[in-house]
Parts: sequence; structure tokens; C-alpha cells
Amino acid sequence: MRLILPLISALLLGCAPKAVPPETMPQVPDWSVDRDALPGGTLRALAVAYTGSAERLVVQGGGSERLSLPVWVYVFEHPTEGTVLIDAGFPRRTSVSTADYPGRQMAKLLSVTMEPGAAAVDRLPEAGLDPAEVRHIVLTHMHPDHVAGVEDFPAATLHVGPGEWEAAFRGGALGKPDTSPFEGRQGVQHVDFAGSGAYGPFEGHRDLFGDGSVVVMQAGGHTPGHMAVMLNLKGGSWLFTGDCAWVDRHWQEPAPKSALVRGLLEDDWRLNWANQWRLHVFGQAHPELVIVGGHEAATATKLKPWPQTME
Ligand SMILES: [Zn+2]
Repeated sequence: MRLILPLISALLLGCAPKAVPPETMPQVPDWSVDRDALPGGTLRALAVAYTGSAERLVVQGGGSERLSLPVWVYVFEHPTEGTVLIDAGFPRRTSVSTADYPGRQMAKLLSVTMEPGAAAVDRLPEAGLDPAEVRHIVLTHMHPDHVAGVEDFPAATLHVGPGEWEAAFRGGALGKPDTSPFEGRQGVQHVDFAGSGAYGPFEGHRDLFGDGSVVVMQAGGHTPGHMAVMLNLKGGSWLFTGDCAWVDRHWQEPAPKSALVRGLLEDDWRLNWANQWRLHVFGQAHPELVIVGGHEAATATKLKPWPQTME
């Protein structure tokens, strides 16, 4: 019943109108990276869990084919800032007991599966990394499949977008979320985009370490303080869309999410849709940029398999 009422209200109220292309296309001002000035470091991509969903829920006009959508954690080894995670996935306790999902309603809705030992905290040693040495976790947003894993890294500084922390306690159409993974958390850095200026097509940004390696970009809509993350390495740039784009189709075409998902899961779907277009024009203007959808299965082949590194 707790799930049925929000679903009905989302169907009635949240049946978002058809998403149409914007009248004015977003612009991509000059964007270039001085790679000689970057500190270097390595990137790894780790799938810690999987969600399952019919294609018609993921994209507007999709069919009944069932898609497997990985829950990704990206691991950046910064030469002086130490180990940095971009999102944290689900925690160890979810892998131990599949009934113990922080954010149970959403997890049920999305049919989460997670194997024992699959959490980031248990996989990092395979890459020779000590989980206790994770110093920063950059959260694209605070839905449970991205934030809940922070409970396994109590010493890490969390970087969250403006208003995201408060929104995570408020919850949305699916009711009050389980805040136990981050309640009372110390060392939270709230990113402030005010006066920061544009980065690519995005209106606000912050260079987290001041060396150009990790740039968070203002990409709200999926949640109020949702951020996309650019990782600039010597060998190339990776743009992690977070859940602005679940799959690459959401930025490549860009295909809208289903009306039900927009109405049920998105804080401001029109803003998110505009950001899907920003990603689209960014990708068209800079084909050398690797844009990585938040739950894209093809990431497993587009980036090197865990625990291999990209530099
Ligand atoms: Zn997600």
C-alpha cells in the first residue's frame, strides 16, 4: 500500500507531458583541457549491483524488453588527494542481506540484485586499494543506489550538490527515505555553484581540488542538487552523467525517460531534460569526450574492465 498510493498519484499527477526538444539549443562555449598541467592519476569502473527494468520505463516509447542496469562506482586515484570515489553504490549490508536495502521501496521497484562481497568496500582490495584510505566521495546525488555505500567509508569527506543534503532527508514521491547510511555524518562539503561560471554547456561548476582533475557541474533536475562529474586525466576526459542520463540513449539521442519515471522519480523533469540536451550538444561538439550514462550497461565495454586502470 505504501508503494501503491505514490504510484497512483504519480500516474495521475505525474504523467509528464511528452518531452520535446528545446526551442533554443544549449550552447557549448570553448572547452579545452591543459592536460600537461593536470596531476595525472588513474580511473577504474566497478559495477557493484544491478537493477532491472522494462525498457518502456527507462525510455519514452520503449518496449517490454528487460534491461539490466548496473550500479556503478568510479574509483579515481589522485596522486596527492588519495582515493576518490564518484558515487558509492549500495553498502556491504545490502550485499549480505538482500532484504536490507536502504531505500527499500525504490530498490523493490527497480529489482535490485547484489552478490555477497560485491560492495565497493569489499572490492577495492582487488585493485590494491585500502578502503580505509578512501578520502573523498563525490556524490552525483543522494538516491540510495548512489549514496548508501558511504556508510562503509566513515572517514571520507562527502561532496554533495547545493540543497541535496536537505532533499535527501525530505524524500519524494516514494515517501520518506532511509537516511541511516548518512545520518549524523561528519565531514560533508556542500558544493556552492554561486558565481562559479559556466563549464561546457553547464551554468555552474567547481574544480574540487583546484588542479582541474575533478570538476563537478551543476546538473539539477533528477534531484535538486544533482551534479555531473568531469574527470580530466592525462589521457582523456570522462564525463559521468549521474542519473541525469541513466543510459547513453538519454544523452546521445537524447531519448526522454518514460513519463512515469519523470513523474515519480525526478524532482524537476523539465530541468533534467534540458540537462540531457546539454550533455547531447557537449558530446556532439567534443566527440573525444567519453560521456558515461549513470546506469549504462555498455560502460562495462567502453571503459576497461575492473580492476584495470585508465590514465
Ligand atoms: Zn541511480
